[in-house]
Amino acid sequence: MDFRERALSLLAKFYGYRSFRPGQYEVIEAVASGRDAVVLLPTGGGKSLCFQMPALLAPDGVAVVVSPLIALMQDQTQALVANGIPAAAVHSNQDETYNRSVMEAAFAGKIKLLYTSPERLLQNFDWWKRLNISLFAIDEAHCISQWGHDFRPDYTALARIKEELPSVPVIALTATADRLTRDDIISQLKLRDPYCLLGSFDRPNISLRAYSNPGMKARTKFISELVHKYPQDSGIAYCLSRDGAEKMHIALSNLGIRSVCYHAGMSATDRDRSMRAFLNGHAQVVCATVAFGMGIDKSNIRWVVHNNMPGNIESYYQEIGRAGRDGLPAEAILFYSYADVITLRKFAAESGRTGVNMEKLDRMQAYAEARVCRRRILLSYFSEERECDCGNCDICRNPPSRIDGTILAQKALSAVMRTGGTNIGVFTLVNILRGIRRSDIVRAGYHEIRTFGVGADLRQEEWADYISQMIQLGVFEIAYDDSNHLRVTPFGMRILRGETTLTLSTYVPPQAAESGRSAHRKAAPVAPVDPVQQLFAQLKSVRTEIARKEGLPPHLIFSDASLLDMARQKPSTLEEFLQINGVGEKKAVRFGRRFITAVRKFDGLPGATPSGTSLRETLVLFNAGVSLAEIAQLKGVKLGTIHSHMAQLIEQGMVTDFGTFISRKEYETIATEFTARPDTAYDTLNGMFEPGIIAIARAIMRTKAQ
Ligand code: ADP
Ligand code: ZN
Repeated sequence: MDFRERALSLLAKFYGYRSFRPGQYEVIEAVASGRDAVVLLPTGGGKSLCFQMPALLAPDGVAVVVSPLIALMQDQTQALVANGIPAAAVHSNQDETYNRSVMEAAFAGKIKLLYTSPERLLQNFDWWKRLNISLFAIDEAHCISQWGHDFRPDYTALARIKEELPSVPVIALTATADRLTRDDIISQLKLRDPYCLLGSFDRPNISLRAYSNPGMKARTKFISELVHKYPQDSGIAYCLSRDGAEKMHIALSNLGIRSVCYHAGMSATDRDRSMRAFLNGHAQVVCATVAFGMGIDKSNIRWVVHNNMPGNIESYYQEIGRAGRDGLPAEAILFYSYADVITLRKFAAESGRTGVNMEKLDRMQAYAEARVCRRRILLSYFSEERECDCGNCDICRNPPSRIDGTILAQKALSAVMRTGGTNIGVFTLVNILRGIRRSDIVRAGYHEIRTFGVGADLRQEEWADYISQMIQLGVFEIAYDDSNHLRVTPFGMRILRGETTLTLSTYVPPQAAESGRSAHRKAAPVAPVDPVQQLFAQLKSVRTEIARKEGLPPHLIFSDASLLDMARQKPSTLEEFLQINGVGEKKAVRFGRRFITAVRKFDGLPGATPSGTSLRETLVLFNAGVSLAEIAQLKGVKLGTIHSHMAQLIEQGMVTDFGTFISRKEYETIATEFTARPDTAYDTLNGMFEPGIIAIARAIMRTKAQ
């Protein structure tokens, strides 16, 4: 078998995938041949395989994976073990006795992938160096760069790896793409002529939407609609502050939604509890700050809502990238307001890197306010030019219809002028236009100006949206140096004087179910029941049940993409089951029966597989390394039956490696007897051996005779 074939057979065996994604194989080949590599793929792009596969392909030795987060190590090792790959982690969340036994196993060559933190690795590097190390993988490698948004000082010390072990390949992986960070990773880690995989950052399955200024109520309602739209799945609501996350969590809980909170102000135990509830599917929503999510490998996150605008596009893209990692449709929704911009500008100003951060913020804001295909904006930020619109963002699906906004602008401009020119912000302006007699307005005497209430025909959200458009278009500017009040620009003055006109995009209310024009429909028509979807839903419940019994997060059993493939292919035998994308041998053996039974029941067939397929099933299980006794137990038949299967398989030449179920001595005794005294041999041996073993020995004899 050549290298490629070997890689493909391991891919099928352990992961259940038939092919590599573009670029994966080349990296694997480079690393396996000892070359350094840098992998830049978006979240969900398939980075893990780029170091896991060379680790599996290495004849001996352990791959050391450096990861900044314990949650990430746990999730990945669990996933590997579930696929039958010996992996483990050493970290400070485990007691030291356990850590020591992991290290012993690694020294004994029993572990293929060993995860740890940079501190732990470097604290005692001379000792680690004595391991037989096949490669180093540096996950979330952007943490090494001061240019990145997630700098971790511990990471810089990783340069020691190449200095002291120059011949061990190092592969650095990250989802952060800007060019400065990229070059910095290479020079900081002292990589030598690394092979670079720069994957496309496009995640076409994630639909994109943004809404300006929806109130808290509208946001909560929106999220609750999403929860009901995806009752079996979960989503993330990102908030700018801890307080914001808590408030959203309470609001959703009050609506009966299973929500948890996650932010850096919580104790480690509470955070861990939230994380687990989210991973095992109990929580439908996690209301979180950016503290949540790095390295989360939960494939069925169906939506990510940003309750506030993030400070830069890199963070935003990484956060929304947590949705839809299984490749199925997912949604990213951004809510933003001028209040966010003001807060973020303050952060940027205090950050010590004001220039860069302000620029990043401007780009983020431009995305939020875009009236052109949002995906093109995102991809062009990562230097990926796109010739056509994506068709899967709010702008593409529902190109903004235009209205003449001149009169609206004149009303707003006049209100700002009559209150003194620079005395009010957006919120007060909206209240004046709508004629709301709040105490602060009355106190300032604004209820007496001529424009008070001239915009009472529009709702609060409508005005808020139109005024943000006016700011984008340069009718007003925000006086960041003067309490963030609105200031009329020269362009605004010309509109006010009737010297020019203004075109605005029609306000579109945020709605989870449908966007755009169809939003006016009362309710979505009830979709006809699609059998694939129906079976898909049933398979999900089977998964939930198994997850509960096995104490595993559901996504580690099978991803949604695999379940959907099952619902489409309807495998009714173990062999067919192994053809499903994402089904490797280990999981097929462990969980296959239960899913096959569900598929068969769905089609009105008896639960057990037909006997004609039984022989092949035994072969599949045997090849997956399951012992004959276990096969008998799994299939609910006698051991003798499996013995007779094996005898048949041996005769068909399907099994050639019988050492695990018949010893050389047993075979020789039986064979000698049959050769010497063929007529009486059976009776003589009958009491000494299981009849099945005799049948197996005879089958071997026949293959030898040929
Ligand atoms: P990343 O680390 O880049 O965020 P992962 O390595 O977790 O992404 O991969 C994302 C998902 O894609 C996982 O569910 C993984 O099993 C799946 N995947 C990776 N490579 C392949 C492949 N060659 N074929 C099918 N699915 C794949
Ligand atoms: Zn688009």
